[in-house]
Amino acid sequence: MKENFLGVDVSPENYDELIKALFNRLEQKQKSFIVAINPEKVMKAQDDQNLKALLNRADFQIPDGIGIILASKLKGGNVRSRVTGIDMMMRICEEAAQTGKKVFLFGAKPGVAEEAKKGLEERYPGIQVSGTLNGYEKDPAVIEAAINEAKPDILFVAMGSPAQEYFIIENMQKLYPHIFQGVGGSFDVLSGRIKRAPEGFQRLGLEWFYRLLKEPKRIKRQMILPKFLLKVLKK
Ligand code: UDP
Repeated sequence: MKENFLGVDVSPENYDELIKALFNRLEQKQKSFIVAINPEKVMKAQDDQNLKALLNRADFQIPDGIGIILASKLKGGNVRSRVTGIDMMMRICEEAAQTGKKVFLFGAKPGVAEEAKKGLEERYPGIQVSGTLNGYEKDPAVIEAAINEAKPDILFVAMGSPAQEYFIIENMQKLYPHIFQGVGGSFDVLSGRIKRAPEGFQRLGLEWFYRLLKEPKRIKRQMILPKFLLKVLKK
């Protein structure tokens, strides 16, 4: 059962359960839309009803960010482990390589998706990345043709939030793929242009702290977390 924080749904499944559900749905030709939920998006949705509706229309709202886990604990809920956007993407790619499903990468600056493709091919030998397109291509006809001609089963969209989510919801019915995920800055990471926090930080749920050390101006974004938790508690 999904949990709801300030009007936004969150799915309780872990990586294995999500992979199983996604690839079963793919076999049944059912479309799936995955969106990553974090306190920033939930707070943004408070005064944006369209965004709230959009987030709730996704099939799977993965608990990205430690804030959602803390909120679930505070509320006696069952969401116990983070499912990050980039790790979910990697798990999907791993499964795609094993089952012969094709992947398309749409987003990021010109050249980055191709580098991300190389990164994926090194990591998951045999993976079929059937196409890439940069996220600054805005002509709907060009985008649709590029994706549909490549006949991918899975589409990752890396254009930042909520642009990538709006793109997916508005286009998923006319696009060839069955699995759609918005993955933010993940292509920049996969291409090696941006480094993720060291594993120790990741394991302790302190990726946010590492990013804060690297980019102190993120403090403004991160001040949202205590506000979010207080609001959840008060409800
Ligand atoms: N981007 C894009 N098209 C645009 C604007 C941004 O493809 O019109 C890309 C940008 O190059 C970057 C990603 O979207 O790779 C945004 O990453 P960010 O980390 O800001 O996303 P977040 O996960 O924070 O939403």
